[in-house]
Amino acid sequence: MKQTRNTQAKTEIFKLLEQAEVALSPAEILDTLQGLCDRVTIYRVLDRLTEEGAIHKIATVEGVIKYAICQQCTIEKHHHNHIHFTCERCQNTTCMTDIEPSFTLPKNYKVKAVNFTVSGICPECG
Ligand SMILES: [Zn+2]
Ligand SMILES: [Zn+2]
Ligand SMILES: [Zn+2]
Repeated sequence: MKQTRNTQAKTEIFKLLEQAEVALSPAEILDTLQGLCDRVTIYRVLDRLTEEGAIHKIATVEGVIKYAICQQCTIEKHHHNHIHFTCERCQNTTCMTDIEPSFTLPKNYKVKAVNFTVSGICPECG
């Protein structure tokens, strides 16, 4: 029984993130899914989906953790190098998948993950 509920939660959470135009925090997901699952389940499902390359974690400038859908990631590898933008007014965080930050590290440093987050005012609030 428990297994079935978790599978359903996973499907619903993935659908929610897929349809959202902005990144969602676990608290927002909990609110939206009212009663379908508890906080612990949501965290577990988010971890699982991240491992599977379905979604990625974003830390905003303020340190809020949000999740957004991945475009081309697989279970073997997350591959993205895009900027996240958080609006100071509406708090919406979006993936800017076309914008790649460019930087060069000193020799011998190997990049494993990039977390590039910008905060400011979005077009809707500007
Ligand atoms: Zn990814
Ligand atoms: Zn805004
Ligand atoms: Zn993103």
